[in-house]
Parts: sequence; structure tokens; C-alpha cells
Amino acid sequence: MPEGDPPLTLRDLDQIPVSRLRGVGDKKDAALAGSEIRTVLDLLTHYPRRHLDRTREASIGDLQPGEEATVVGEVRSSRTRQLRGRRTLTEVVIGDGGHQLRLTFFNQRWREKQLTPGMSVLVHGKCDTFQGQRQMTSPIVDLVGDQTGRIIAVYPQSEKSGLLTKDLARFVEEAVARCRPRGLDDPVPDGVLDRFDFVDRAAAVFGIHQPESMAEVAEARRRLVFDELLRVQLELVRRKRRIERETAGIAHEIAGELTDRFIERLPFPLTNAQQRAIGEIGADLELARPMHRLLQGDVGSGKTLVAVHALLTAVQGGYQGALMAPTEVLAEQHHAGVTAMLGDLSVPDSSTLMGERPLRVELLTNRVAAGDRRKILADLVTGKVDIIIGTHALIQEKVEYAALGVVVIDEQHRFGVEQRAALREKGDAVTAPDVLVMTATPIPRTAAMTVYGDLDVSVLDELPPGRTPINTEWARDDAAEDGVWDVVRAEVGAGRQVYVVCPLIDESEALDVRSAEDTFAALQAAELSDLRLGLLHGRVTAAEKASVMDDFRAGDLDVLVATTVIEVGVDVPNATVMVILDADRFGIAQLHQLRGRVGRGQHASRCFLVGDPSTADGEARLEALVASTDGFELAEVDLDLRGEGTIMGERQKGRNDLKLASLRRDKEWVAAARQVAIEIIDTDEELDRHPGLADELELLLGDDDADYLMKD
Ligand code: ADP
Ligand code: MG
Repeated sequence: MPEGDPPLTLRDLDQIPVSRLRGVGDKKDAALAGSEIRTVLDLLTHYPRRHLDRTREASIGDLQPGEEATVVGEVRSSRTRQLRGRRTLTEVVIGDGGHQLRLTFFNQRWREKQLTPGMSVLVHGKCDTFQGQRQMTSPIVDLVGDQTGRIIAVYPQSEKSGLLTKDLARFVEEAVARCRPRGLDDPVPDGVLDRFDFVDRAAAVFGIHQPESMAEVAEARRRLVFDELLRVQLELVRRKRRIERETAGIAHEIAGELTDRFIERLPFPLTNAQQRAIGEIGADLELARPMHRLLQGDVGSGKTLVAVHALLTAVQGGYQGALMAPTEVLAEQHHAGVTAMLGDLSVPDSSTLMGERPLRVELLTNRVAAGDRRKILADLVTGKVDIIIGTHALIQEKVEYAALGVVVIDEQHRFGVEQRAALREKGDAVTAPDVLVMTATPIPRTAAMTVYGDLDVSVLDELPPGRTPINTEWARDDAAEDGVWDVVRAEVGAGRQVYVVCPLIDESEALDVRSAEDTFAALQAAELSDLRLGLLHGRVTAAEKASVMDDFRAGDLDVLVATTVIEVGVDVPNATVMVILDADRFGIAQLHQLRGRVGRGQHASRCFLVGDPSTADGEARLEALVASTDGFELAEVDLDLRGEGTIMGERQKGRNDLKLASLRRDKEWVAAARQVAIEIIDTDEELDRHPGLADELELLLGDDDADYLMKD
């Protein structure tokens, strides 16, 4: 690579096979390929797992039991013992000066060959003591060889394919040396680099591999993380804007008599969060492009009101609104709630004698009698129905609208691309309706920016005043559990009602049902024998379910024993206690959802988490629930505990370009990257004036990857 040539782009690096590097023969080439490293770009983006500051490394003699540490030592001995069954235990002793540390590995006989006496190794793990000796069980081991320098880059290595951190270090060194003369092209605009005080691309790439100081590592990482996030956001924002350009929407009249009347007649003022969300939604609705917005907010934060406001905005301009719920029961509840909220609101209508007509809201589910259904369907086509409430059946082929303007989808899960296409066809063939998705399972805002990258997000982060907070307690042992049943009996004695959620059994629905039946029988026979108990699980028929729910709602049952079928939406204000058995088996989001079933009336509510977790994560989950009732805060904890894999989806994680960036650790950079991406795309829609960036997107975020980002 002669000097004087232009700086290397990522595409240039991607065109140089690693086999061109000195020292990479057939064997190492194959080993590299086994780790998906085929080109110099792959190699340079195979970032160090961590860096070891040799000036700060611990010596074995300083290791404290219970602490995590990194030490360098020389292998003294290694041997493998046969254990019961076909298990083996390999013990390796390393030492520095006068101190020794024993490393133990189960079923990793190959360690014996890997770690031979005299070899210098770097181990990282938690130190404990065993028979008076320092020991680490299954530590991370890196063969650093004779790498010198103050800071050592430790690479993710693959022992099995014979690719060691020292090999990688050598190849990277060679690659960096070959790239340095030409330098690396930096496609990110100078203004952005200045704004965040970033080092340039070459300094970042070379610096993360061959830093002089830990500060240099941090600067390099900051820049590289930003670049990864910027690429993802550029792709998402570009696609979002494309869809917005290519699909015509309805320019709704956001200021109108109907929405004004609705607000005036509310018995309470809007919360600030509701006002803000209504404003954000209004700004979308008013534009002639379809809205795709996510409304996140805890149970009880007043999402329904915001959604109804959007539906009325459609209606006052002569369009129809649809509200879709995930189940028929919830559709019925929404219908009752929305009808009550609207009261006898009328729609201005100059064609009638009075200048107005009643607003018409209908429910469409399979439980609606056939005759009524036919009538509703017919009136939808002619526009006599203003707002229709139902399940996903509302966007099936058979349902036709006169002019569908706004669709609200109430559900936890992602509204898929297919449904969106179906919706587009419900418009008047020219325009697509505006879509608002509501969810009560918040995900952190920055994660939403990536996971729901094609949606805009509004947040209700404030509960209406006067709510009695739910007090949550963790009942860990039998005595505590007895106390829970005392509270249950006392509350029922005071006229309240109670939910009991049964242990969740992962294996099968049949087992869940058994668990619910057993719990029901056990409680009825002992702790709650004087109370009126109802049972609900996934195998009861729809009719039975409805009848149990009706009885509970009417107060004819004191306690509802149920599986998670009660998770979403069920609303019985007189229920004030939620007992969750084996609570540690549930995830944070699910526990939070379940807890949201109480605290809906004027009486103080309590939630009991019964369970004795066997893992630290389980404990952390229950502690989090006890400590906070804020869904957003809990979502952050969940993200911390489980990592982004859970929201990105395992498949996605492996495919995307996020090698260094973490949606968890790098939250502020997600937001910054999104902001920069919007600025760039809004002045240069197809990146014609940023060819370097455009090329990197094409190279690193192929269509498939970007499709993943858009889907669930
Ligand atoms: P979500 O759908 O977010 O769970 P809802 O829309 O069902 O919440 O609202 C919960 C309750 O709070 C309803 O009874 C609703 O009437 C009431 N509510 C909504 N907004 C307000 C407000 N600004 N002030 C007082 N109460 C409100
Ligand atoms: Mg619009």
C-alpha cells in the first residue's frame, strides 16, 4: 500500500483477505475463518475483550477471597482427575514469586494441553479459598505470550480452533502497521466530531488495539461506539423517512369542536405527560403522512384517554377510528370504558336538523350476535359507525371502512410488518391510516429508539394524582407466607377482593393448568376455606371464563385464583391484593404487569411476592419490584439484569453491526446518534452528500440486517 494513496475506507479493508498478512498461513487462516474473521476489516473490528494495564495488575499474594481480579502467573503444573460419571476435573496451578493459585476446570480436559508448565498466562475470575489455598473456578484464561507494553489488548480467543489472544495481537499489529501509512478515511462530518470532541477514525481504530494508556482506550471506544450506533440510526431513520415519503397519509384537523368538547367534559385536568403526548400525536396527525407512534406508559397512566383523543381527531374530520385489543375480553372492557368516557358526546353534523348527531361507538367481536355483526359491518362501510372497538379481526379482509383515519393498537407485542401492510389497505386506497401503538410494558427509551427504530415514541411518565400507591412486599419463608393469607382474609373481611397468581410452570400449558388447579384446591381446603374462590386458567372455555370474570367483577367471588391469563387489562377496582406465588419464576415486566391489576380503585392496595429464589438474579428481580412501582425504572433494571439480547432478540444480536456498543451501557450515545442521524437524513435524505457513510451502511447493514431491525 504505497503512501500518497487516499486513506483506506472500511470497504477497502473489507477487500483485503487476512491471508495477505504475514504469519497467516493456511492453518491460521482457517482458524480465523472459524471466528468469522476473513478480511482485515473483520480483524480490526474484532475488538479486544478488555485491556490489561500491567502497571495495575494484581499479584497472587494480594488476591482477596470473594473478589474478582486479573493476575498474571506462570503455569507450574496441571493434571486431570476422573470424577464420578464421565466428568473430569482439571487442576492447574500457577504461581508468581512465592505465591500459588489453583485453577479448576470441569470437563475441559484440553486445558491440560493448553496450559503447560512454564507458560505465562493471564487469568481473570473470582478468587475463593479451598482447603486453605487460593483458587479460581473456571476463570477466563488468556495466553498473552510475550506481549510487551504497558497496556495489553486481550482478544476474545477461540481455544478450540487454536486462535489465541497472542496470535490475534500479532495479526492485528501487522494489519495496523500496514494501514498506518495511508490512514483511515473518516466519513463522519467534522462538525459532529467537533461537537462530541471525538478522536478521528484512525486514532480510534489504532488506539483501541494499541493504546498507550487506558485513557486512550476510553476515547477510542467512545468514538467507535458512536460510529456503530450512528450507522444503525442512519439506516433506521433513512428507512423511516422513505416510508413517510412513499406512503400518503391523512392530514387530520387537529383543532376541532369534538376534541375540545371531550377535553372540556373530562372531570379532571390532563396530566402534563398526557398533554405532551397529545401534542406529539397531534403534530403527527396533522401531517399528510401516516403516523407510526408508540405510546408507552405504566398501567393507569392514562393511555386510553390519549388514544381516545386521537380517535376523536379522526372522527371530527369525517374519518373513522378503530381500537384494537389483544383479546375479546379486553376489547369488551375497552368498549365499556371508552363508551363511559365519551358519555353522550355528539358529533357536529351540518346535514342534520340539529346540526349534530350522536357519536357512534361499536364493539365487534365474535361474541356479538350474527345479526348485530352484519349491521355493524354494513354501517362501517357507509360511515355510520364512528369508532369501532375489537380485536385484530378489525383489520381482516371482511371488514371494510368508509374512511378509516386512525387506528389504535393496545398490546404488548410488536405490531408486525404484515399487519401494517393489511392496515394500509384499509385506507381509501390512496392514503394509509395513522397508527398509534400503546404498551404498558415500557422499554427504556434509548432501547426503544433502536428496537422500535421506525416508530416515534411518546411517553406517559407520570401517573394521575390521587392514586394510592401499591405497597409491595416479598414473603420469602413459610411464616411470611402465612402472614400473607392472614392479610387476604382480613381484606376480604373488609369487603375487598384478591387475586392469587399461581406458579408458572414453563414446560407446558397442561402443567400450568395442574398448578392452578392444585393451588385452588389447596387454598380452598386450608388457608382460604371460608372464602369464595374462583379459578381461571388457559383451558377453561371462553364462556366459563367470562362467567368467572363476571362473578368476580360483581363481587360474588372473593378470590380469583389464576394463571397469567389475568395479566393484561383486567380491571376490577375493588380488588386490592395481588398475591403472586413462586414470584421468582416470573420476569420483571410480567410481575409489574400482574401487580398493575390492583391499585385501580380508591382503596390502598398491596402486592405480595411469595418466593424463595435460587439465583441472585431472581433475588434482584424481586428486590426491584419491592423498591419501585415505576415501569420505566424497572425496565432499566431488567435491561441491566438480562442484557440487550432480550429486547433485541437473539437472532438480531448476532447479525447487527453493534460489536462494541451496548444499548445498556451506552444509552446516552444511542440518543446522540439518533439525533445526529436525524440531522443528517433531514438535510440529505439518501446520503448523496455523505457518500462515505452511505457506503458503510451498504457494507455493514445489508438489507437483511436492516429488515431485522424493523421487524419483531
Ligand atoms: P392506562 O390505559 O394507561 O392503563 P387508563 O387510561 O385506563 O390508564 O387510566 C386509568 C384511570 O385513570 C382511568 O380511570 C382514567 O379515567 C383515569 N385518568 C386518566 N387520566 C387522568 C387524569 N389526567 N387525571 C385523573 N384521572 C385520570
Ligand atoms: Mg397524518
